[in-house]
Amino acid sequence: MSSDKPIHAPQTHFPVHDGCLHIGGIALPRLAQRVGRTPFYAYERAALNARMGDLRAALPAGIRIHYSLKANPMPALVQHMSSLADGLDVASGGELKTALDTGMQTDRISFAGPGKSETELAQAIAAGAVVHLESLRDIDIVNRLGQSLGLRPAVMLRVNPDFELKSSGMKMGGGPRQFGVDAEQAPELLRRIAMRDLDWRGLHIFSGSQNLNAQAIAETQEKTFELAMRLADHAAQAPRLLNIGGGFGIPYFAGEKALDLQPIAATLARWLPRVQATLDGAEVALELGRYLVGEAGIYVARVVDRKVSRGQVFLVMDGGMHHHLAASGNLGQVIRKNYPVAIGNRMQEEKSEIASVVGPLCTPLDVLAERMELPAAQVGDLIVVFQSGAYGLSASPSAFLGHPQALEVLV
Ligand SMILES: *Cc1c(COP(=O)(O)O)cnc(C)c1O
Repeated sequence: MSSDKPIHAPQTHFPVHDGCLHIGGIALPRLAQRVGRTPFYAYERAALNARMGDLRAALPAGIRIHYSLKANPMPALVQHMSSLADGLDVASGGELKTALDTGMQTDRISFAGPGKSETELAQAIAAGAVVHLESLRDIDIVNRLGQSLGLRPAVMLRVNPDFELKSSGMKMGGGPRQFGVDAEQAPELLRRIAMRDLDWRGLHIFSGSQNLNAQAIAETQEKTFELAMRLADHAAQAPRLLNIGGGFGIPYFAGEKALDLQPIAATLARWLPRVQATLDGAEVALELGRYLVGEAGIYVARVVDRKVSRGQVFLVMDGGMHHHLAASGNLGQVIRKNYPVAIGNRMQEEKSEIASVVGPLCTPLDVLAERMELPAAQVGDLIVVFQSGAYGLSASPSAFLGHPQALEVLV
């Protein structure tokens, strides 16, 4: 069929044998039998290992890599990531529990986010996790809780930078934000932290998410290092850790290309020695979510009906936007675009028709692929949505319309 349109980046994480996608070395129809029912998410250990291995090989030694649970909090997957990552970043009491259950050294678990409740803060302090202070209120409460618990809380200061991450899918720093304290206020807050009985570990500067422009990420990292070194002058002692954020994106849509790590690696290699020389050997950490897990997962649903409406083919599945809001285009997309989608048991058949892949919900929003070139699918076939290892089930409105929850497996 037509070839002049932009196409999806090739999905090469999982092999194809005898027409079937294999994940964890298991043919998809067999995996569906093993899971017992569709729809389900499947995440692959080998793909998680390979991604972390490639990343570590590309980046300078000494860069720490944290996993952000927000991207995928499935306990078995977090357990696996805890063996690959140098730290776990959480943003709720629930994620804190999942992270602690892995056995990760507790001061390598850090807890960020606005509006942390007193209960959550007390849990984090009692656990020995690192609390990211994001306001004056956080400083006061954490100090008071530390005194009442007889503990000296480990803390970082989260700073809302005075610059933005360009071409980012989701900006979370620069301008007015609910995250962190403005860079302009940071010197004053660092003085206050020094006056309290707090074990200050360092600075956290996160600018944004889902960026495929390596040059923009590298430039932001330079500005982040400059800001951190400027702010460090206002602290009572040198920071032990700089968490410089992440923002590494993955290609979801046609025309997008995988992130080129080379410019980022070169920037980090240039700055790391300088930062460590100036700041008494401070560690530098990246915090990544989707880049580590997004490509290692698929969503799988079964075709339950095949309809033709005024000449257009609709494949109706037993799963949809209630399990995978992002693929339906309703999680922050302005213009709806298709994720890479395939028929998992017809991987080698010619794409012979244009079909829309929809879910069972009684709303026109429940579309997982709109007018896509696909092999002719039949009832019982297994639809696969790639790039689904992050912001899938936990970021979806599972209760919407009362269908069964999707299952999740790690293979
Ligand atoms: C969401 C978030 C992340 C992870 O973002 P990804 O795009 O999944 O890498 C990391 N750090 C913070 C502070 C976040 O809020």
